[in-house]
Amino acid sequence: MTASIIDGKAHAAGLGERIAASVAALAGTAGTPPGLAVVLVGEDPASAVYVRNKGRTARGVGMASFEHVLPADTTQDALMKLIAELNADDAVDGILVQLPLPAHLDSLAVIDAIDPAKDVDGLHPLNAGRLASGLPGLVSCTPLGCLMLLRATRGDLSGLDAIVVGRSILVGKPVAQLLLAENCTVTLAHSRTRDLARKVAAADIVVAAVGQPEMVKGAWIKPGATVIDVGINRVERDGESVLVGDVEFGVASRTAGAITPVPGGVGPMTIMCLIHNTLVAAYRRRGLSVPR
Ligand code: NDP
Repeated sequence: MTASIIDGKAHAAGLGERIAASVAALAGTAGTPPGLAVVLVGEDPASAVYVRNKGRTARGVGMASFEHVLPADTTQDALMKLIAELNADDAVDGILVQLPLPAHLDSLAVIDAIDPAKDVDGLHPLNAGRLASGLPGLVSCTPLGCLMLLRATRGDLSGLDAIVVGRSILVGKPVAQLLLAENCTVTLAHSRTRDLARKVAAADIVVAAVGQPEMVKGAWIKPGATVIDVGINRVERDGESVLVGDVEFGVASRTAGAITPVPGGVGPMTIMCLIHNTLVAAYRRRGLSVPR
């Protein structure tokens, strides 16, 4: 058996088209398009690429994009002042602060200062709490992307056994909560989990968010399971630097029913979910019901 490859780029493109139609509809009704503000502190090259991509994707669907690039020695006060200005700016529906911030800045205080209604990264404690309580809010982008890919691949997820490997606040925990809300039976595994192989082998859905190259072995995967690989790891292979996921793709793709590649799986969905969240925030802020 060979797994079907879940094409994250194609899914993200489809989502982008639907978002563009809703952006045009909103701009027609409300007069102004949704606006996304992205804040970058410092000159980390990878972060700069992410910020540029986010701005380009926002503009690509017809949104307004506001990019704020601050020097690496920006003070906490200056950053908090900018967040307050963006909170008060009516043209801004979504605020994203690119993480990680330089070490002298308090990331949690910055996230906490963002208006939860504009927290399109879904990291504000209020949005995290709403997710845990089963209330509507803004859901962080990578977990939302995982859920969209799973729904598109499996349809109704109700009753399926899922394992999420990794329990970070950014990925693992919210993925587990989303799957629980879909009526999956969820195992949330981490570095102290015993006999991970046996637990993975029992799962219909495997979401790997560990940050260790190919640590989830292909031989563990249950035949026909759906595998979502969140990991992005750069490794040297045959003298070349390549990206691999947290799942041993070569072997897993012979057993799984469907699997995401790395790159080209969860990554493209993450950025489009940021744009999706900005659209959701824009509709809610204007008191309109969010298009489905
Ligand atoms: P973190 O480092 O914050 O969390 C890693 C988690 O994996 C922890 O919960 C840790 O457990 C668990 N873990 C570590 N080793 C093992 C092990 N041997 N067995 C089981 N669990 C283990 O990482 P993130 O959640 O932020 O990211 C995970 C991966 O996803 C990374 O590769 C990252 O680059 C990628 N990523 C990709 C995105 C995308 O858009 N595609 C977006 C965000 C992240 P414990 O809690 O016990 O320490």
